Amino acid sequence: MYLVDYHTHTHCSPDSSAPLANMVRAAQAAGLRELCTTDHCDLQQEDGSPLGDWDWKPILDQFEQAKVPQNRDDFCLLLGIELGGGHTDPQRAQKLLEGVPLDFVIGSVHNLSPAAGGRDFFFLDFQEEALARRTLDDYFDSLLALAPLPCYDTLGHIIYPLRYINGRSGHHITLDPWQEQLDQVLGTVIETGRAIEVNTHNGREVEQWRPILERYRQLGGTRVTLGSDAHKPENVAKGLDRAARLLREIGFSSVTLYRQRQPRQQPL
Ligand SMILES: [Zn+2]
Ligand SMILES: [Zn+2]
Repeated sequence: MYLVDYHTHTHCSPDSSAPLANMVRAAQAAGLRELCTTDHCDLQQEDGSPLGDWDWKPILDQFEQAKVPQNRDDFCLLLGIELGGGHTDPQRAQKLLEGVPLDFVIGSVHNLSPAAGGRDFFFLDFQEEALARRTLDDYFDSLLALAPLPCYDTLGHIIYPLRYINGRSGHHITLDPWQEQLDQVLGTVIETGRAIEVNTHNGREVEQWRPILERYRQLGGTRVTLGSDAHKPENVAKGLDRAARLLREIGFSSVTLYRQRQPRQQPL
């Protein structure tokens, strides 16, 4: 199986301390054919304030240093970014991506909308179920704003708030009440030729993707990227074999790869 990990972080992200070289070694040890490094560039900071000055240099320098010695015939290291909150400042999002030799861009929403306070979902306490539902209303408004914008190639971890709402606070909320919004988001992704991501959250979330993938396929979606969201070497590739099997089971025959932001289908 041609396995790739298209969602990984290094110490260039505020929530990781891993050097890229260690992530690459872990990817090669796990038998991956491609590793795409996708550090955070979030237009909404954790507390909701807008991104300040941004410098690509640490990411580009690290990538150049790792690429030359590591790339082999059977392995390829790619440069990506996880661009968060692009819909909060679409012009800045476009500007940030200009002139950078990126292979791939994940578009993510990690925060409430600025009007709702803008905080990262990670810091919210979802004990109260009504707050969880209001958060999902707000989240889908954000996804609907992000979906048509050109500042991403794959829509990152669509089920992200459920990590905290169900995973941490113990609710059993499904996305069924937001089916209409979800369909609209998926429809826009398909019409504009983009992909959705199956994000295994370090191997913890695979089966949770089934309803989204089934609906995406029904609507005509074909492009899917795979990522572990590893922030440490030991989590690289976690759950990707199961995610690939799930894709096949649902009827997808390929995974989407990127070079210079151009998609290509690779048979699974
Ligand atoms: Zn993310
Ligand atoms: Zn991430």
